[in-house]
Amino acid sequence: MKVPEEPCQCPDCLRFYREHDRLIREFPTLRQQQEINWAALQSFRTLCGRVLEDLQKQFNSDSLEKSEDNSKTGFKDHKEKSITQVISDLENINAHLYSVEALLERVFDVKVPDEVENKFKEIAGELAPDPLNIDRLKLNRLLHQTPDLPEK
Ligand SMILES: [Zn+2]
Repeated sequence: MKVPEEPCQCPDCLRFYREHDRLIREFPTLRQQQEINWAALQSFRTLCGRVLEDLQKQFNSDSLEKSEDNSKTGFKDHKEKSITQVISDLENINAHLYSVEALLERVFDVKVPDEVENKFKEIAGELAPDPLNIDRLKLNRLLHQTPDLPEK
């Protein structure tokens, strides 16, 4: 018999499911999903870009200092290597975010008629009902009292 795969219940996955559902619940239309995702992408780029700029500045002034002071080279060489690595990692992230932005721009341009937006809302309500909604709580209680559910 094929056992259906249970979704992972580790704390990280649980947090992800909650966040996933919250984003559907709070942004239930195509328009809202476009806006929130655009804002998320832009804020990600802004923050990463600024940190990268700062690290590059810091790295450049450290290199200047180093040429004036050779006594702590061993320590600085090690530190610089990791900063160079971080800078190149962040540059990669920025490059990828830039590509993602170029791809998503088209997705974010699409507009749909109100009927379709209503469909979005309807499906969003099915996919991610408010866990604290009173009807949902009643339903959960009912399900837990159902006798033919397997006992733990
Ligand atoms: Zn997990």
